[in-house]
Amino acid sequence: MFCPSCGEELPEGTKFCKNCGKEISNIQTSNAVQTQGAENDHKIAIIAGYILAILIPLIGLIIGIYLYTRKDSENAQKHAKYIILVAAIVWFISFMLMMN
Ligand SMILES: [Zn+2]
Repeated sequence: MFCPSCGEELPEGTKFCKNCGKEISNIQTSNAVQTQGAENDHKIAIIAGYILAILIPLIGLIIGIYLYTRKDSENAQKHAKYIILVAAIVWFISFMLMMN
């Protein structure tokens, strides 16, 4: 983590910046709230991704790739991998059925 005031690198969990003396704990809390907000924003895309991966694999795949590029949310990236996998499997099964 870095001091939001002066940019000094600080060990995780530091309460006061050792360089400029600014209190860190309040800023950390507001960042956590922001992160939570981002997680919520991706929920709809994650659910839509799963549904579309099954119904329309190509669109599911696109949403999966979109979620995978969301560097702000580990949760979105984790689900993106599953969505891409589901889309690929459904695509493969559809392809096999068409062959028969
Ligand atoms: Zn500082």
